[in-house]
Amino acid sequence: MKNKLITKVALIGGGPACATAAIQLARSGIEIVLVSKEIGGTIKNANLVENLIGYPHGVVGKDFAKSFQLQLTKAGVPIILEEVLIVEQTGNKYTTKTAETEIISEYLFIGTGSVPKKLDVEGEKEAFLNRKLFYEMYNVKQFTDKKNIGIIGSGDVAYDYALNLQNVANKIAIIRRTDKTSSLPILQKRVNNADNIIVLNNSVIKKFELKDDKIFLYVEEDGKLITMVKDLVFVAIGRKPNYDFLSEDLVSEYNNPKTDSKLKFVGDVNKDNFRQVSIAMGDGMKVAMETVKRIIEKEGYHGTSR
Ligand SMILES: Cc1cc2nc3c(=O)[nH]c(=O)nc-3n(C[C@H](O)[C@H](O)[C@H](O)COP(=O)(O)OP(=O)(O)OC[C@H]3O[C@@H](n4cnc5c(N)ncnc54)[C@H](O)[C@@H]3O)c2cc1C
Repeated sequence: MKNKLITKVALIGGGPACATAAIQLARSGIEIVLVSKEIGGTIKNANLVENLIGYPHGVVGKDFAKSFQLQLTKAGVPIILEEVLIVEQTGNKYTTKTAETEIISEYLFIGTGSVPKKLDVEGEKEAFLNRKLFYEMYNVKQFTDKKNIGIIGSGDVAYDYALNLQNVANKIAIIRRTDKTSSLPILQKRVNNADNIIVLNNSVIKKFELKDDKIFLYVEEDGKLITMVKDLVFVAIGRKPNYDFLSEDLVSEYNNPKTDSKLKFVGDVNKDNFRQVSIAMGDGMKVAMETVKRIIEKEGYHGTSR
């Protein structure tokens, strides 16, 4: 039998978007429940976050993310640390289901961010399952000491991963399919100045193979097939919105949002959003404040103080 909860607003996600929204709603005395796989979100992968005002020396992604839990607790936000499997609409309510819990809410905020894109080549899944290939950085840095690492990608995340590993890895190769990068100039400059990072152009990954505790990369380089041997590989070729758990009706609402809906998407999960912490926080704050206004104006509800 699942735990059943009824609340005014349910929020899914413990990243900057929903954490900000939850704190604002809690401070406004609105009844809420936040459900998330973990607290902190994607920013814990970041080497150094330098574009958040208030941190003149930058802040390590993991440290920044770690502070959310304390702030949520201090604001009195009830948190359920579980993975959401299904979200559906029944009449004018939303049902959010995990393996253990069912939450019925009048309003629902979804801030589930993005998931890394896969290359979809032979051997990728096996390498991932054998912990030779990774998409996220935050939980694997400890294995990267003195290793020979390949990072596949050409954007900010690939460059950020390379810089993150610069002081622990032996050699790092950024492997990109063209000779162009979409990374910020400041990250390119740091990569160019690093002794142990090289950038390989026009290199298209065709296949991975695991042999003798190494990962073999079969790469098409300028029309020729070559082999590279690495200890570990990171794939950082972009991210896509994460909303696999939505029912068909709600996917259609995601694609055609209604302004008066009580279902709100906040932060990176939104299509075409610029993926930045301050934008995710701003989204969360705006939607929370609009919702509080709506609850007070249309429903005459004034919340309770915490
Ligand atoms: C390497 C890297 C470096 C970055 N550097 C910067 C930077 O310097 N500056 C900057 O502004 N931004 C940076 N970003 C982007 C930033 O991390 C995101 O824009 C921001 O985290 C988005 O916040 P969000 O709350 O929308 O989503 P996320 O942070 O992705 O949070 C999503 C939350 O939803 C939860 N969740 C997902 N699916 C489920 C589910 N099914 N059930 C329950 N919970 C679920 C997750 O556990 C997580 O808590 C970087 C990103 C990466 C990957």
